[in-house]
Amino acid sequence: MEDIVLIHYNEIAIKGKNRNFFEQKLINHIKRVLKEDLLLIKKRYGLFYCKFKKGSKDRVCKLLKMVPGIAHFSFAIISDLDLEKIKKDSLEFLKEKDFLTFKVLCKRSYKKFKYKSMEVNMLIGEYILNNLKRKVDIKNPDLNLYIEIGEKEVFIFSKKIKGLGGLPVGSSSKIICSLSGGIDSPVSAFKMIKRGCDVVYVHLYNNTLVKREVLSKIRNIVEKLNNYQLNSKLYVVPFSEIQKEIIANISSEYRMIIYRRFMFRVINAISVIENCKGVVTGDSMGQVASQTLENIFSIYDVSTIPILTPLIGSDKQEIIVVAKEIGTYEISIIPYPDCCSFMLSLHPQTKSNLDEIKKLEESILKKELLIENAISKADVFEFKI
Ligand code: ATP
Ligand code: MG
Repeated sequence: MEDIVLIHYNEIAIKGKNRNFFEQKLINHIKRVLKEDLLLIKKRYGLFYCKFKKGSKDRVCKLLKMVPGIAHFSFAIISDLDLEKIKKDSLEFLKEKDFLTFKVLCKRSYKKFKYKSMEVNMLIGEYILNNLKRKVDIKNPDLNLYIEIGEKEVFIFSKKIKGLGGLPVGSSSKIICSLSGGIDSPVSAFKMIKRGCDVVYVHLYNNTLVKREVLSKIRNIVEKLNNYQLNSKLYVVPFSEIQKEIIANISSEYRMIIYRRFMFRVINAISVIENCKGVVTGDSMGQVASQTLENIFSIYDVSTIPILTPLIGSDKQEIIVVAKEIGTYEISIIPYPDCCSFMLSLHPQTKSNLDEIKKLEESILKKELLIENAISKADVFEFKI
């Protein structure tokens, strides 16, 4: 019976003058994901509503759950700004539902409507009571009957489906994700997509060790993340030349730190090409040796743009829950010869000193050339929905 879907967006509403900009980003995103299932989308104060093709409700539900910026949505019917019509439509709506007890919850956004919310609750409740023989239960009803009174129409529905929350994609800055084949960095990218960022991905790999086909793992991860972002770009950068230099010049306990400093140099250079204003990593405090605060400080120092670490205070278990929800977990756990694995030392330095690190790095000559060469050999993949 419900042939429209009401879309609520909490955070955007508070954006004042930018409201239109945020709303338009969200509308464009919804149009792109619903494609031909979408028949019409209308903007109303604080919400949108969409008409969709018959038979596509389940698909629409699944797709809307993946749109950043939606707080919650509801499948609903439309009624008129007329109490008698609302009564009849509510009754029709409820006839199809399975419940014993109910409660009416009216929200009157259109303040000129003749009846106040409490009056609507009472009058509709009474009508249902008399015509359907169901009981009212204010505290713990089987069903909530929501009646939302807008300026042009009235919406009737019984379920609020939780959306992703956050902000529409493209409403915040463009950033780079330092993407490994592991569990954490895809989750960190997802968190930033949800905050409205456009994310470009950079993965560095050992091209003498890893076959090209293996890199499909990274492409598969980006493809999953692209379900939320709709357009993505991935740079896959060969790193073995730089690694050779590091191994030849740096003692094993410092290699990981210097290796990651080079990673950031590559990422910074790509951020100039892509006009990205920040980097996101999957770092989580103390998870591995490179993630002590001293080492994070020594590594991040090299970056000329801000580094975002949305997982810094998360436990692995919490990260895994999100990875499973967004579908990257199953791909991340596929064994993969990570290019850092042979950079690992039995006794890595956990309390590095920045001055010491800078001194050690002086033994690696022509840093810029090494970086330029690596980027010139990068493969670039584009993803589009
Ligand atoms: P993840 O699960 O994301 O691999 P991790 O816990 O294994 O993280 P590390 O391997 O130390 O941690 O990597 C820390 C962060 O460094 C990653 O979250 C990612 O942002 C970045 N990183 C690691 N390896 C690569 C790589 N090969 N290419 C690009 N970025 C990388
Ligand atoms: Mg890793």
